[in-house]
Amino acid sequence: MPHTEAQTAAATNFPGKKPLIISGPCSAETEEQLLATCTQLAATGRVDMLRAGIWKPRTKPGMFEGIGTKGLPWLQKARQLTGLPTTVEVATPKHVEDALAFEVDVLWIGARTTVNPFSVQALADALRGVQVPVFIKNPVHPDLELWLGAVERLAKAGVQNIGLIHRGFASYGNTEYRNAPMWHLPIEMRRRLPDLPLICDPSHICGNRTGLAAVAQQSIDLGFDGLMLESHIDPDNAWSDAKQQVTPQRLAELLDGLIWRQETTDQQEFLTVLAQLREQINQLDDEILHLLGRRMQVAESIGRYKKENDITILQTSRWNEILERGIRKGDQLGLTADFIRKYFDAVHLESINRQNSVMNK
Ligand code: PEP
Ligand code: MN
Repeated sequence: MPHTEAQTAAATNFPGKKPLIISGPCSAETEEQLLATCTQLAATGRVDMLRAGIWKPRTKPGMFEGIGTKGLPWLQKARQLTGLPTTVEVATPKHVEDALAFEVDVLWIGARTTVNPFSVQALADALRGVQVPVFIKNPVHPDLELWLGAVERLAKAGVQNIGLIHRGFASYGNTEYRNAPMWHLPIEMRRRLPDLPLICDPSHICGNRTGLAAVAQQSIDLGFDGLMLESHIDPDNAWSDAKQQVTPQRLAELLDGLIWRQETTDQQEFLTVLAQLREQINQLDDEILHLLGRRMQVAESIGRYKKENDITILQTSRWNEILERGIRKGDQLGLTADFIRKYFDAVHLESINRQNSVMNK
């Protein structure tokens, strides 16, 4: 399988820069559209890598399924004109072969492919012995093990430079996002694989233009290594994902508006204040844990008392009362109802388990 010097360079210097900014259209549509978008992006001086969808996995048949291999020479031309490396989504071994033949520097596996272990394994086999970096998007649904499994399959095939793209997760009845960010999942992924670059794709999380900056900022605040954002010279008339794409000009403004925070600093005053605040948190956590311990002891007493009187553990009316009381009180203290519900769910479950063990001892 072909691999060029540029691909090797990209591989040894991966991801090359933090933050790594990747942009380009959802789909390559025509040579003019792709070249105009890419040259305008390069002219902003804010973009490190060009993206374009060549093969598009679409939810329903009859939608635009990508221009196919015919678009690769256009992307190669964009690469020559701008001097920027390129990246495309691959879903089959043939895609890998074609992309590499046209000097694509970095590949990515899309969310609809990461869910399928057979497809991921076929890609891993096609990548054996090829020095090309590969980004793996999270699977469509919130399954961390499947995402980790895809990383493992590629790593086992000898792919040395693997990156992660967080593009959000499908969830039922969600209206605010096209794909809910569920930030705890990429955070856990980072904890498990701290050495892999992790970048955020606000375009597919938001599904619209208005939310992009806030999601991008949030990912930066969480220490992500870069962004992938879709852009198009004429977003309203894009053949796919029209609602979420922005012009290269707007992309540059969006990037200018972001605050790139540092992960840490050696400035003494900052470190001292931070240490003090963290100590306060530790103190409060200790107090909360102490109180929770006492709460569980009371729950056990209730369990013993119910046992003596042959009363069931779960009483729905009491549970509703606890929850309503908590939400009211939480509201006065600036705690969201959502948080209070999750907190009481966990506490209540533990409490029931304690009563259960007392009762059935
Ligand atoms: C894309 O990047 O255009 C795309 C299809 O993304 P995802 O795999 O995240 O849906
Ligand atoms: Mn898209």
